[in-house]
Amino acid sequence: MFTDSHAHLTFDTLYENVEEILKRAKDAGVNRIFNICTDIKTAERGIELAAKHDYIHNIGATTPHDVEKEGEEHFPYFEKLAKEGSLVAVGETGLDYYYEHSKKSLQKKFLIKYFHLARETNLPVVIHCRDAFDDLFEIADAEFANSEKALDRGYYVSFSGIATFKKSEGLREAASYVPLDQMLIETDSPYLAPQSKRGKVNEPAYLKETAEMLAILKGVSLEDFAKITSQNASFVFGV
Ligand SMILES: [Zn+2]
Repeated sequence: MFTDSHAHLTFDTLYENVEEILKRAKDAGVNRIFNICTDIKTAERGIELAAKHDYIHNIGATTPHDVEKEGEEHFPYFEKLAKEGSLVAVGETGLDYYYEHSKKSLQKKFLIKYFHLARETNLPVVIHCRDAFDDLFEIADAEFANSEKALDRGYYVSFSGIATFKKSEGLREAASYVPLDQMLIETDSPYLAPQSKRGKVNEPAYLKETAEMLAILKGVSLEDFAKITSQNASFVFGV
């Protein structure tokens, strides 16, 4: 049984057919999904969905892409959800200097705000980071404990369908270094469908292909890989 540690079930693309998608996920052995909510609409849907299905858990924050547009407006809402216990983690927050849809200074400001919220509510943080690791680690070290790299800091690293792409040699090499007990798997659906489904709308049911690739890479059975990554998610998110 697999855990999808990061999916956007309540984005319009998936939410339209969410019950069918959840059924296909179950049939494909995905028995737990962490739903990433990025605004009020997707969070309200997520809370409704979690009330109906006890294997769905919500995580929420404004993404680094959108903080310029709606960071201020939505922060009090995510703060309320975190404080009332509707979220199992804060995120995805972070820094994205590749797209830089929001000013870097604002991305940093909100990353710090969400770090503070996570500490106040004793919740873990789900990080999105692209081309901004120096700033990420500098801020994280100022806010939390000081050490060298992500793994040394005890961070968990989540792998998506990108790991199955033909050209992702570098990412597979990274996966070979990440200890199994710090590894999570995710679809990031509706984005990033794995190799055999490229170009399609991704959904949690497609998680297995990524798991198969990574299990071979780590030299463990698919069953053990599913079990360990699910246990990791239970530990990180406290469910
Ligand atoms: Zn995402």
